[in-house]
Amino acid sequence: MIINESEIKEDTKTDYLTYKEELIKNWKWSWDWSSLENIWHITNLKVHCPKCDTPMYETSFYDSNLSCPRCSHKTNSRQCGDSDNIKRIIIDNIDRKRN
Ligand SMILES: [Zn+2]
Repeated sequence: MIINESEIKEDTKTDYLTYKEELIKNWKWSWDWSSLENIWHITNLKVHCPKCDTPMYETSFYDSNLSCPRCSHKTNSRQCGDSDNIKRIIIDNIDRKRN
């Protein structure tokens, strides 16, 4: 889930850092990039409410329930995917676009 900045070509670098949302497994995900010692990391990974597009928040760490602050739509994070897996898919998407 990390990319070495030195491996990113200058001409593709802008594209890559503006890539901040994607529809993965029918759920919309958004994230930010943060740089630490020249390595870019995905941070603030959020899944969006399928009804109103508002980022949902975790109501309970233990049972992984997610709730929408705007419309109170509820789901379980098992429905939308493990965040570590989602990060791997995002990185893989970037790799594919660069080739
Ligand atoms: Zn909602």
